[in-house]
Amino acid sequence: MSESVRVFIRPRPLNSSEIRSRNFRVSGNTITCGVDGSAGQPPPTFTFDRVASENASQEEVWDALGRDACERFLNGFNGSVFCYGQTGTGKTHTMMGNPTKKGILPRAIDHIFARLAHIRATSPSSDAVVRVSYLELYNEILRDLLRPGPGSGGAGSGATQCVLREDSKRGVWVEGCLDEPCPTAQHAHTLLLQGTAERKVAATLANEQSSRSHAIFTLTLRRTERGGVGGNVREVVESKIHFVDLAGSERQKSTATQGIRLKEASSINKSLHALSRVLDSLVARTKAAAAAGGSSAGGPGPGYTNFRDSKLTFLLKDALGGNCVTWVVACVTAAQTAMGETLSTLRFANNAK
Ligand code: ADP
Ligand code: MG
Repeated sequence: MSESVRVFIRPRPLNSSEIRSRNFRVSGNTITCGVDGSAGQPPPTFTFDRVASENASQEEVWDALGRDACERFLNGFNGSVFCYGQTGTGKTHTMMGNPTKKGILPRAIDHIFARLAHIRATSPSSDAVVRVSYLELYNEILRDLLRPGPGSGGAGSGATQCVLREDSKRGVWVEGCLDEPCPTAQHAHTLLLQGTAERKVAATLANEQSSRSHAIFTLTLRRTERGGVGGNVREVVESKIHFVDLAGSERQKSTATQGIRLKEASSINKSLHALSRVLDSLVARTKAAAAAGGSSAGGPGPGYTNFRDSKLTFLLKDALGGNCVTWVVACVTAAQTAMGETLSTLRFANNAK
């Protein structure tokens, strides 16, 4: 397993009409595709680090990766958690969930603030400030979901667009984006709800589907440690974690890719393709470094990572690679109608491990 990218497969439950024919079967952590399909060819088989069962609870998913991701963040490391997959396979369910079946992100907020409260209580010289930003990326246009502009007309309408910047001091940052200090978990939950509602309204107004955009919720933590005479700040540690509900990975249908949509369709998944290439390069880099028994190469060559290929990879640059860990929940369905897209998601996940 590549240390820098950790893949988790989550098949969604099938409904009563889907259950009769499956496009794959799971045995342990191995998925065998096309088991009910035509004979002749050996069925494609994939083995992953972790394949959840179809009735895995939200809690199991949190235990498998959410807690680990948050602990690394609290310890000062950057990271990101992605939900990848075709529309309807459970990305939003996995990331956000609902009030009775909370997803990774609301659990992460609760966990992080509870741990920070504990740290403050047990170590009076420690302090921590959490900030939150919530962005949407559609068609390579970045929007601030926490600051809907006056003419908020949906994805790509031009409302409160943000610009990506990079400098040596701050790394990658987003100009014109709210980065709201969050004193409590409650405040973070409110921002999450507000931004998610804005995403839905904007998509509806623009006659678009939010399934075609990426939603990026980012927590930034600045921990300070005081000590010595006068209680001066002795140590400052900053870390970032991104929770990304990705756009549906399905290929755009031809009916939706005519006229103006054609240009959109080519750039809608530009970020997704770039992410795939970046994950490939991170995995290649980790493997090359392991084989060489030393650190990885930084320049062009095997494992070279071009973060500037898309806004998504550029935005997440400081949280991908290096000593950052990327968690990918690849959401799939065994429903027969999704066979092609399921194979494509499994191939993506297989390359990322
Ligand atoms: P996506 O975000 O990938 O388009 P959704 O998360 O919206 O997919 O899921 C589609 C539907 O399936 C929703 O009604 C969701 O509640 C349901 N669903 C998805 N995964 C699960 C699961 N693991 N358990 C129960 N319901 C699920
Ligand atoms: Mg969704």
